[in-house]
Amino acid sequence: MANPENNLKLRALGFPISSKVPTHWYNLVADFPEPMPPYLNPRTHEPVQPEDLEPLFPKSLIAMEMSQERYIEIPQRVRELYSSYRPSPLFRAHNLERELGTKAHVYFKYEGNSPAGSHKPNSALAQAYFNAIEGTTRLTTETGAGQWGASLSMACALLGLTAEVWQVRSSYDSKPYRRMQMEVYGAQCHSSPSELTEAGRALRARDPETSGSLGMAISEAVESAVKDPQAHYALGSVLNLVLIQQSVIGEEALVQLQEAGEVSAPDVVFGCAGGGSNLGGLAASFIGQNLREGTRTRVVACEPAACPSMTKGEYRYDYGDVVGLTPMMKMYTLGSDFVPDPIHAGGLRYHGMAPMVSHAYHLGLMEAKAFAQEDTFAAGVEFARAEGIIPAPESTHAVAGALEYLRDGSSHEGEVVLIGLSGNGVLDLPAYHQVLDVDGDTAAEEVSR
Ligand SMILES: *Cc1c(COP(=O)(O)O)cnc(C)c1O
Repeated sequence: MANPENNLKLRALGFPISSKVPTHWYNLVADFPEPMPPYLNPRTHEPVQPEDLEPLFPKSLIAMEMSQERYIEIPQRVRELYSSYRPSPLFRAHNLERELGTKAHVYFKYEGNSPAGSHKPNSALAQAYFNAIEGTTRLTTETGAGQWGASLSMACALLGLTAEVWQVRSSYDSKPYRRMQMEVYGAQCHSSPSELTEAGRALRARDPETSGSLGMAISEAVESAVKDPQAHYALGSVLNLVLIQQSVIGEEALVQLQEAGEVSAPDVVFGCAGGGSNLGGLAASFIGQNLREGTRTRVVACEPAACPSMTKGEYRYDYGDVVGLTPMMKMYTLGSDFVPDPIHAGGLRYHGMAPMVSHAYHLGLMEAKAFAQEDTFAAGVEFARAEGIIPAPESTHAVAGALEYLRDGSSHEGEVVLIGLSGNGVLDLPAYHQVLDVDGDTAAEEVSR
C-alpha cells in the first residue's frame, strides 16, 4: 500500500481558513441525560466492539462513532476543505415573513451552496479524509437520490481515493444528472440492486421489478467493501459519526443567530428527516443548549408520509440494511425490508432513523411530523417564489413544517423560527415540473393510459 504520508492531497496546504469555520464538531452524546443503547453485533447480539467494525471503517472513524467527548477537533485539512463553502449562510426570510404576515423572525440555514448542492459534503470530506490518512484506497457507498453519492465522489476526487456507488434503482432511472455528476468526479455508479454482489443478485431474483431501496444498496456497498482489504465503506447518514460531522451546521447557526441580533435561543427549529443527518447536525447544538443551559428550543423533525419512520415506526433494534450485514441499532424503524413508494424526495426513503435522533425523540427532546408530497412541493414552490432558492425535494419537508406552524392563526410575535434548508433542488427540476403540471403532462398521461 502506498504511504499515505506521500499523498499531497492529504496534507494541509496552508490555505487561509475563515475564522468562522468551526474548530470543533459537537457530539450530543455527551449531553444526553441517559446513555444511548449500544449497537449490537448482528451475529452474537452482544454490544459491538470496535474491532467488529474494522472491516468497514478506519479506526479514527470507529473511535468517533463511539466517542463520548462533547467537542471533537476538526483536522486542519478538513477545515481547509470546508472553507470553500463554509460557513454556510444563515438568511432571514424577510419576503416569506411579509407574505405570511407573521411577526416571527424566520431564518433559514442554507446548505445548498456546497459543491454538491447539499449538506452531505460536511461528512463526505471528513470520512474520505480519515480513510485516506489510514491508507484506504477505495470507498464504497450507497446513495438514494444521488446527493450522497455525488458528495462522496467529490470528496474522494479531492483526497485521492476511488469511489464506487450503488444507487437505488428508482433514483438511478429518474435522476440521471446525479449519476453524471458522480462520473465527472471519476466515480463508478451502479443501479441497485445490481448483478455485482451476492446481495444484489439475490434481491433481483426475489423481485426483478423492485424499485430498490437504501437498505438494499447498503447491503451491496457493505458486501463489496468487506471483500476488498483496500476498501472501506462510507455511510451518508444514520451513524453517530455522520451526525457529529454534520454538527458544523448547528455550531455555525448558534453563532450566526447571535450575530443577527437574536438575544434568545430560537423558539422552533424545523429540519427534514430521512436518515437524520441534516436534522441532527442542525438541531444537536440547540438540544445540547437546552440540556446544559435550560433554553427551550423546540425541534421538529419533518418526514415524508410515504416513509414515516418516526411518526409510524417502532422504537426497537433493527438492521441498517436489508440483508443484515450492519450492526443492529436501536432506532425508530419501519422494518429493514420496508420498500417505500418512489417519492421524489429519494433522500428521505430510509426505513430507519439515526439512533442519536431516535434517542432524542424517545427522550422527548424532539418532536416529529409527517407531510404528504403534494404539501411539501407546494411549500417548496412558495418558498422559491418568496426567497429565490428552489429547495431540494427533501428540504421542502422542513419548509412545509415551518409554513404550517406559521399559519396556525397566531402572530408569533417575538418568536424566532429556524428552518434547515439542507440543499437546493436545481437537479430536481423534473420533479417540480411534474408536480406543477404546467403544461398538463400528468393529466394527459393519465387520459392516455
Ligand atoms: C440526503 C439528503 C437528505 C436526507 O438525509 P438526512 O440524513 O436525513 O439529512 C435531506 N436533504 C438533502 C438535501 C439531502 O441530500
